[in-house]
Amino acid sequence: MMDLNESFEYPDLVIVGAGLFGLTVAQQAVEHAGARVHIIDVRDHIGGNAYSYMDEETGAEIHKYGAHLFHTSNKRVWDYVNRFTSFTNYVHRVYATHDGEVYPLPINLGTINQFF
Ligand SMILES: Cc1cc2nc3c(=O)[nH]c(=O)nc-3n(C[C@H](O)[C@H](O)[C@H](O)COP(=O)(O)OP(=O)(O)OC[C@H]3O[C@@H](n4cnc5c(N)ncnc54)[C@H](O)[C@@H]3O)c2cc1C
Repeated sequence: MMDLNESFEYPDLVIVGAGLFGLTVAQQAVEHAGARVHIIDVRDHIGGNAYSYMDEETGAEIHKYGAHLFHTSNKRVWDYVNRFTSFTNYVHRVYATHDGEVYPLPINLGTINQFF
């Protein structure tokens, strides 16, 4: 009879879900505690709902579960996530047209000055 303790290295931590939460907990446990971590996910990729991949035919980045934008004003967070991935530079600007003129939204001082 096989002794499981001899042939199997038990992890210190089992994490279910390889989304941003599970991956962050796993990474921190390894980096700060030297833990042996085992991650289980029903999907065949990491990243959870924030997962994206490059479409080989078009070269477009596909967000499989819906578009994701990363927001932070915290430099520590920004430096941390950039250790593991790179980001597409995306700028979101909203405009409205009125009487053939283009105005920036949401309304700001520039919009009011331009309008009057
Ligand atoms: C359409 C959409 C757009 C979004 N846009 C943004 C955005 O622009 N900016 C933003 O900050 N956030 C956005 N979010 C929210 C963001 O996706 C979540 O906050 C983030 O992904 C949560 O990470 P998580 O690890 O907690 O969970 P999830 O990403 O859901 O990961 C959980 C993982 O656990 C796995 N799992 C679950 N149950 C089991 C099980 N029983 N056994 C094995 N595996 C299991 C799943 O397969 C999944 O991979 C958006 C969400 C959606 C759905």
